[in-house]
Formats: sequence, structure tokens, C-alpha cells
Amino acid sequence: MNLTLHLTENCNMNCAYCTREKKPERMSEEVLDAACDLAFSQGKSAGLCFFGGEPLLERELIFRALRRCRDNSRKTGKPVQYKMTTNGTLLDEAFLGVAMQEKIGIGLSFEGLAQDTCRRFADGSGSFEKVNEKAKMLLSVLPDSYAMMTIAPQAVQQFAESVRYICGLGFHRITATIAYGNKVHWDDAAMEQLEMQLREIAAYYEAQFLAGKPFFFSAFDAKIRDCIRGFNPSERCHLGFRQMPVTPDGKLYACTQFIGDDDYCFGDVFSGIDREKQAKIAMRASTPETCRECALRTRCTNSCGCLNRLETGNEDTVSPLQCTYERMLIAIADETAERLFAADEAAFRKRFR
Ligand code: SF4
Ligand code: SF4
Repeated sequence: MNLTLHLTENCNMNCAYCTREKKPERMSEEVLDAACDLAFSQGKSAGLCFFGGEPLLERELIFRALRRCRDNSRKTGKPVQYKMTTNGTLLDEAFLGVAMQEKIGIGLSFEGLAQDTCRRFADGSGSFEKVNEKAKMLLSVLPDSYAMMTIAPQAVQQFAESVRYICGLGFHRITATIAYGNKVHWDDAAMEQLEMQLREIAAYYEAQFLAGKPFFFSAFDAKIRDCIRGFNPSERCHLGFRQMPVTPDGKLYACTQFIGDDDYCFGDVFSGIDREKQAKIAMRASTPETCRECALRTRCTNSCGCLNRLETGNEDTVSPLQCTYERMLIAIADETAERLFAADEAAFRKRFR
């Protein structure tokens, strides 16, 4: 079973687009232990994602979880995988040594040259210098780590140069999304700029591909793969089935945006999962009414209840912003794929099949 552990609701940063409310709550040892046991209670393997707020504010809880899971893995014979999403500011060699030993897949929230536009510390100071150094340290120990970009309208002009910068540092994998929620305002000018920046990134992506350099840009990779391999429902989010968030007090929810809503809480780490409620909630993750006739419906994130809820307040309603972005992304990904295919069919097939 895959669980995302919200080890703390606190964070040492104050990013302009952050949708999380910072609170002093942290996960207790009892909740953590029970969550580690629950992860092994069913399925063929266990998966934990250390999450927050900023999970490295609670590194002792991470170490405790690793010890507990090592024991559980020995007792059950099931393998365990770890991931962590971090703002990177608290990474150090001691932690990275453990991360390397335990094979923790680290996703570093980093926006390259655009970092200081939105990603600032709680006192308002910029974080570029610090995170840039930490990124180099991370890559020296775990070169397969990935950078996670969230591009807000005020930083969009630096999107493409930041992708090139991050790749130049040594990251081979970049996940990128636009910032959503009521703290960001995408106007027409920002959307136009976004399209231009995505086209510039597409040209870079193409150049890297043709040079035989490994560079994965999730926004394009996913759209091209979905087109070639066809719609695979098992790869889509199933509210609360593939990955469940665990709050500091031990409650289990369908997805992050639903935390605190009793209708989407289906148990806790001590009493386990209310299967009937979980199944009912998962069935709600379907294509919204407004998308059923759209030719792009199987390649679009329209059924992401979490994102829909963040944007429109309703899990079944897609926002105009999301629809516009998805159309833009799919069009650029398709044009790029056509060029790659024409330029080197064998390499294209190898990469996307
Ligand atoms: S680092 Fe993450 S949790 Fe912290 S303020 Fe930024 S977006 Fe929010
Ligand atoms: S592109 Fe727009 S209308 Fe089409 S499936 Fe996506 S959100 Fe729905």
C-alpha cells in the first residue's frame, strides 16, 4: 500500500502560490508507527512518501519510519520503496548518506533561475542561492533525483531558461506544472507567454533527444506516451486507491485537497480503511460531464478530482484555466512528437514504446 505521510503541517518557506496552511502540528511517533504497519498490511509491496509542509523539519520521524519499515520488510518479506518531496533547504550530507543507503527517491522543488520570484523564506528573503547549492549536493550523491517546478504567472517568462538551467546542473528529470489555486491569476498575457515558453522548452527537449542526451520533461513525456500507448486507466488517479495521504493525526483521505473534509476521510491508521467508503469515493473519479464529447478526454487531467476541487471547489468541474492549459500542452507535445518521429523513428520508438 502506498501512503503519503504528512509528517508536519509546518514549513520554513512561504512560497507565493502555496496552497497549504502552515500549522505547528507534527505527526506523533504512534501515528507514524501505525502508518508504517498499515503500509505493509496489504498488497505485494509498501511505499512511503515523506511529505509536509517540509518533511525535513521532522527528519527524526523519517529515520524512525525507515527503521520500522526495515523491520516490517524483514517480517513480511515485502519490499518497500521511499520517496520524499522537499524544498531542499535543510538537506545535508548526513541525511543524503541515509537517503542513498535507503534509496529514497528525492523530488526537489526548485524553479531554477525563477526560484526567487515565488519561492521565498518566511522572512521574505530569496532561496535561490541556498537551494542551488543543495541541488548540486543532492546530484553529487543521488544523480537520479528529479526537480519539480511549479510555474506561476509572475515567473512564466523565466520558465524555459530555468528548465535549461536545471538540466545544465545535471537533473535529467523535471516534473513541471503550472501553479493553480486562488493565489495565482493567469491572465491572457501570461497564458500567451506560457505558450511561447512551452514552445521554447519543446525545442530544447527536441535538441536533447536528437543529441541522445537523457532528458525527461514530464509534461511532454506523459502526453506523448498517452497518445502512443493509448489510454491506460490504471495509470490515472483513483481518488484514494493508488496513494493515500495520512495527516499528522493519522486520518486517511482520498487525496491532499480533501484533507479535513469528513466526506472524503475513510479511516485512520489505527482502525484501518473503511473499504465501502473508499470504493464509493473512488467511483466518483470519472470524466466530467463537460468533457465527455471532447476528443482529448483520455489525454487530459480532467478527472483529477484533487485539482478540480482546488480550482473550482468541485471535484467534477474542470476550470477554464486547466482546460486551456491541457489543450496547449497536448498540441505542443503532439507537434514535438511528430518532429522527433520524423527525425529519428528508431530512437522515438525506443523512448516512448
Ligand atoms: S516549500 Fe512547499 S509547503 Fe513550503 S511554502 Fe513552499 S510550496 Fe508551501
Ligand atoms: S481539453 Fe478541456 S474539454 Fe477537453 S477533456 Fe480536457 S478539460 Fe475537458
